[in-house]
Amino acid sequence: MDNLFARIIAREIPATILYEDDQVLAFQDVAPQAPVHFLVIPKKHIATLNDLQEADKALAGHLLYTAQRLALELGCDDGFRVVVNCKEKGGQTVQHLHLHVLGQRAMSWPPG
Ligand code: AMP
Repeated sequence: MDNLFARIIAREIPATILYEDDQVLAFQDVAPQAPVHFLVIPKKHIATLNDLQEADKALAGHLLYTAQRLALELGCDDGFRVVVNCKEKGGQTVQHLHLHVLGQRAMSWPPG
């Protein structure tokens, strides 16, 4: 599973792409947990949030801003959730940093 999102960036496996620029890619989650559920990833390979470096701070902001712009485009102006699962205890299954964006349903807290 390590290279799964790299393969989506390379168009080796299909995805429903919502946004792309030179730094980031956003696409629909294949197993959506809400009416709106997409992922925003850096094109640069960063395995986990723990691997983010100081030099990546602008990229991190770009990922978050992309999440917000797309969430609003998809009608989530009444609220949405952004989640980053980090490593095994955080529930991360794909070893390429990704922001989950979930919306169009009520969310509870805390997560399980
Ligand atoms: P995480 O558990 O935080 O690592 O999240 C990985 C996410 O990737 C899950 O929500 C999966 O449904 C999603 N996913 C796995 N394979 C694909 C794929 N081929 N295209 C889109 N999303 C995927």
